[in-house]
Amino acid sequence: MKKRIREIHYIVTQYWLEYYADGACTLCGNSGIIDTRGTKTLVGWDVGRVNYCICPNGQIMRKAGFDLNA
Ligand SMILES: [Zn+2]
Repeated sequence: MKKRIREIHYIVTQYWLEYYADGACTLCGNSGIIDTRGTKTLVGWDVGRVNYCICPNGQIMRKAGFDLNA
């Protein structure tokens, strides 16, 4: 199980580095938080929320227990 989780982390990190890192995180603008509140699917389902980003800033905030709703 532990090895599988490490493999997933490696894959996600490599994906982020290849597509979303440009000197800073282009997903969250380096804030560590992605806020999609107000986002709806094409059929109108509300799918937005506040999330930690997959980048190092977001993961440090997640591990530290940063309050996303603060
Ligand atoms: Zn980010």
